[in-house]
Amino acid sequence: MDVVKAIDKEVEKMREEIIEFTSSLIQFPSIQGEEEAAQLFFAKKLEEIGCIIDIFKPDSQELRQNYKDVLVSRNDFTKSPNVVGVLKGSGKGKSIILNSHMDVVPAGDQDWKESPWSGKVVNDKIFGRGASDMKGGAAANYFALKTVVKLGIKLRGDAIIESVVDEEIGGAGTAATLLRGYKADAAIITEPTDMKIYPACMGSMWFRIKVKGKAAHGATAYLGVNAVEKAYVVYEALKNLENIRSIDKTHTLYKHLEIPFCINIGKFFGGNWPSSVPDEVVLEGRMGVSPDESIREAKTELENAVREAAHSDLWLSDNLPQIEWFGSCWVGGAIKKDHPIVKNILQNHLVVLCQEPIISGAPWATDAGILIKYGNIPTVIYGPGKGNVAHQANEYILIEDIVNSTKVLSKSILDWCL
Ligand SMILES: [Zn+2]
Repeated sequence: MDVVKAIDKEVEKMREEIIEFTSSLIQFPSIQGEEEAAQLFFAKKLEEIGCIIDIFKPDSQELRQNYKDVLVSRNDFTKSPNVVGVLKGSGKGKSIILNSHMDVVPAGDQDWKESPWSGKVVNDKIFGRGASDMKGGAAANYFALKTVVKLGIKLRGDAIIESVVDEEIGGAGTAATLLRGYKADAAIITEPTDMKIYPACMGSMWFRIKVKGKAAHGATAYLGVNAVEKAYVVYEALKNLENIRSIDKTHTLYKHLEIPFCINIGKFFGGNWPSSVPDEVVLEGRMGVSPDESIREAKTELENAVREAAHSDLWLSDNLPQIEWFGSCWVGGAIKKDHPIVKNILQNHLVVLCQEPIISGAPWATDAGILIKYGNIPTVIYGPGKGNVAHQANEYILIEDIVNSTKVLSKSILDWCL
């Protein structure tokens, strides 16, 4: 049989079902802590196509013990189970993981034309929070596997569908699937890449630096030490480090970016009175991490740069700035551009869409870093939906994108697992 034609026919037959399924998923307001209903809906669908279902809650303590760089932002996952469905292969074939996250960012009080949870279909689009990021991708994973099942083809390798929680806050859900023992010979994360292929994603993390000064009356400011001026020494050291890292940490998939791994100072505050010399300034920012370096290495670079700058200043060398890594941290990771799983998707994208896909580095962090660095699973990011409508009001996804990526993924599963 002509497999591509058969897939095309099966997926087209399910077009209405795909639309309805995606719309239903969007109607669950599955923000962090409220993912359960959507996850149970998804699990039931996976069960219907013959998957062995595993519904489990991430264990905060175990996660913190095993993955120090993964942010585990809460202790209670009662309403936030992970769902994994395994379609067992007959043996001796390569296995694959198709991963998506069910958590969505809050709707916000932005300018929505309809309810963010409407899942409304208008012409060629489905609207709502999570449409692109990434319920469309979850639908593509599900229908890709359903297509394989409907074609009656028995895979040799296992096909594992993961629907995780907590991606938007740092990846605890996907890390928990590793602790639960889910591994495969490759993984695809169907984040909204607009059907570009991303074999890499960068990491990032937040820092806070406290710089001390010495208070004095503004009229006799020369008796004090202005923390703003001293904080500026630190600021310049960070900009200098960013320049150095743009050369040192260059990565083939991020070459097109002016500054691949930005160090952004997002907050700079201190002082409490115009007529007083401020005795403390706090800088808060975000550091981009190359997919090839570890979080620890990047932290050490920043800490050293601040320390060196401090030692060049008489006051700061006696009053070292305090660095704290707080809040968010996303692990980056990359595989080779010519890895078989990348070639697989490239080839099938070409066959289904008759055009060469773009291969690049993801401009944001995803759970791919966790699967690559901690799970040792070659992972590529490829999916329907647009990153630039994610996290915005009136988020949508093109129906055609879900349908096309379903076809590509379906063929990719067959090529990989048969
Ligand atoms: Zn996402």
